[in-house]
Amino acid sequence: MMKVIALDVDGVILDSVHENFIVCQKVIEKKGRKLDDENRFRKGRNFLRSSLSMYGIAELTLQGKDFDKMNQEEFDKFIVEHKNESRQFANAFHAMRKILQDKDYDKWFALNKIFPGIKNVIDKLSKKFLIVVISTKDFHSISTAFDRIGIGIKKDNIFSKEISENKVDQIKNICNKFAVKPEEIFFLDDQPKHLEGVKFLGVNVALAGWGYNNYMQKAYAKRLGIPIIDKSDELEEVIKSLNKK
Ligand SMILES: [Mg+2]
Repeated sequence: MMKVIALDVDGVILDSVHENFIVCQKVIEKKGRKLDDENRFRKGRNFLRSSLSMYGIAELTLQGKDFDKMNQEEFDKFIVEHKNESRQFANAFHAMRKILQDKDYDKWFALNKIFPGIKNVIDKLSKKFLIVVISTKDFHSISTAFDRIGIGIKKDNIFSKEISENKVDQIKNICNKFAVKPEEIFFLDDQPKHLEGVKFLGVNVALAGWGYNNYMQKAYAKRLGIPIIDKSDELEEVIKSLNKK
C-alpha cells in the first residue's frame, strides 16, 4: 500500500520559470549583458537538475543555443566544464532572489504561477496519504509560496535544498523519518533524470507531463518504463491503480 506521496515543487506544483528568468536577467544585467529570450530560456529550463544548472540555462540562452537539439548529457557536461561559474552564478541567483523577495514580496511572488488543478488534487490526496515535497529549491521560498497559495503541506514535510539536492538521498531521508519503505512511496517529478535513480530504489514514480520536459525527455522516461501523467487530475487514478497491484 502506498503511504507517502512525494511531489517535486517546480514543474509539478509551481510554474516558476518566469520567476527564474527575471532573477537571471537581473543577475546578468549586473554583469553588463542582456538576457531577453524568455522562450529559449523556458526550453533550457527542461534540463535543470540542481541550482548549479541555472548558469547553463542562462548562459546557453545568451549564446542562442538550440535547446531542442540538446540532450541532458550535453547540458550536464557544460555544467561540469563550468563548475566555478555555475557555483558563482547559483550564489548570485539566490542572493538576487532574496533581494527581490525582501524588496516587495508580493511583486516577487506574482512572478510565480500555480499549475491548474494541482491544489485540489493535493487537498484530496492529503486526506488519504502523507504528502511531502522534495525540491532543489530553498525552504523559505517553498514554505512562503505554500502559505500564499494555501497548500497545507506541513513545514516538516518539506525536503528542500538545505537538506540535500539529491533526490535519492531525500527518499532515504523520508524512509527514515516516517519509517516507510521505498515501495510505499509514490514520487512525481517532471525531470526524468530525477526519477531514474529513485525508481531504482523501488519507489513508484511518474513523470509530470505538464512540467518542464520536452519530447526527448518524455521518450527517455518511456524507455525506462516510467509512466507519464499528462494532467494533474489523473494523479488520483494512477495512485489508486498502483494500490490495487
Ligand atoms: Mg521540477
